[in-house]
Amino acid sequence: MEQRFEKLLKILKSFHPNANLGLVKKAWEFAKLVHYNQKRKNGEPYISHLLETALLLAEWELDEDVVIAGLLHDSMEDGAAKPADLISEFGEKIYLLVDGVTKVSSVRLRGSRDLDFVENLRKMFVVMAKDIRVVLIKIADRLHNLRTLYALPPDKQKKIAIETLEIYAPLAERLQMGQVTTELNDISFSYAYPDEYRRVARESKVYYKEAEDHIKGMKKRLIVSLAKEGIRARIDGRKKSYYSLWLKLKRKEIDWDYKKVYDIVALRIVVDTIADCYASLGIVHSVYKPVPYLGISDFIAQPKPNGYRSIHTRVFGPKGRIVEIQIRTKKMHEEAEMGIAAHWAYNEAKISGEEKKLEGARAEYTKLSWVRELLNWMNEIKDSREFLEALRFDTLQRRNYVFTPKGDVLELPEGATPVDFAFAVHTKLPYYLRYAKVNGRVVPLDHKLSSGDVVEIVKSREKKGIGRDWISFVVTNLAKREIRKHFRAVKSKEEKR
Ligand code: MN
Repeated sequence: MEQRFEKLLKILKSFHPNANLGLVKKAWEFAKLVHYNQKRKNGEPYISHLLETALLLAEWELDEDVVIAGLLHDSMEDGAAKPADLISEFGEKIYLLVDGVTKVSSVRLRGSRDLDFVENLRKMFVVMAKDIRVVLIKIADRLHNLRTLYALPPDKQKKIAIETLEIYAPLAERLQMGQVTTELNDISFSYAYPDEYRRVARESKVYYKEAEDHIKGMKKRLIVSLAKEGIRARIDGRKKSYYSLWLKLKRKEIDWDYKKVYDIVALRIVVDTIADCYASLGIVHSVYKPVPYLGISDFIAQPKPNGYRSIHTRVFGPKGRIVEIQIRTKKMHEEAEMGIAAHWAYNEAKISGEEKKLEGARAEYTKLSWVRELLNWMNEIKDSREFLEALRFDTLQRRNYVFTPKGDVLELPEGATPVDFAFAVHTKLPYYLRYAKVNGRVVPLDHKLSSGDVVEIVKSREKKGIGRDWISFVVTNLAKREIRKHFRAVKSKEEKR
């Protein structure tokens, strides 16, 4: 295991040359201590789970803080560590990450009662929205748990598998982590719906084989045609995962007809530039005729909501078989496989000055779009639970989640205004309030905020004081209390004069 740990250090160092490896070593020793003598169900020492989780995070190019938190992620829940230990040994930043993971882990979404479900979802959302890295650690944790799921009793296997299909795999997908999503889905599928899994695996074999044979021939022809036009391309076959194949087969219009799944194996063309993508599309269509009624999807011009970019076209392949071809640049390919982790883990060591600022802005933007995605995702889950509608249980509707321009999330009650927001950010902030912007537009101070709004308080240089009329429209207790306090103080000063 010490060798695996050396590997961890090596990977981390390769992506982050300035990483504090001493602190990583300290975390490893700490983890061994607090999980002393603990074993996993498969008989391995508990710390193997922590090491493997940290290794995944390092492979996703995340920095030492995240890798350390990966090593320590179970130290409070399953180990003997106390918050004070983590803060004094590793600092507040790392403690907060571990605490976030602990909180998310304690949220049980499966089998909870309706009321708990909404409340738990809310809790989970708030923790995850605060720091996307918590989600990444949780996903790495879950992935390793799935890889070793064989050791658990069947009822637990099923519960974890279904929770993964419902919560963690969709999260990974929203984070655009293609490879991870596929692995989470396929392992879970085999445990959650074993009969269906076996059926798909058995029946699909011949279709996969046939599609792969077609694609081999197409690949040769296309490489030559592209090279003639001076386009350097890498062409691969992409096999559809069992789980997404199953979802497709169940659709009404497909109804278990494997021949209607055109992308059971898709042909993937990876080129250098966006211009090459469009040029390749033309060349592909000159060799294989596009299927008119299925059309082209240009996700480069219009990316999918999770940021996915590629051009998809369906063509008549050999023997009139319909084949899907996906065209993208190397960068798009990396993003599609590695996802948001790749954006998040920008390498600070390699950049400086202006570039750093730019990357910082991009990281903030990424964070904000992540929080938005999370909000959509939560609403989808909520909508999919019809019983919640039926109960008219609207806890979530009655709370608003609004964001600072940096993507920090604040939870405010219905009817909250920019003034409530300002007080919630900092009780001194309203004294400098010049005006407020919501989603980039200036709004009156009594404007009612809604979930997903990005609120920006534009400050004056000098202290301006508090508006007399604010008390008439604020809704949070904090704002009311602070405004009253302020005017009481003013009054008593006036009386003294
Ligand atoms: Mn764990």
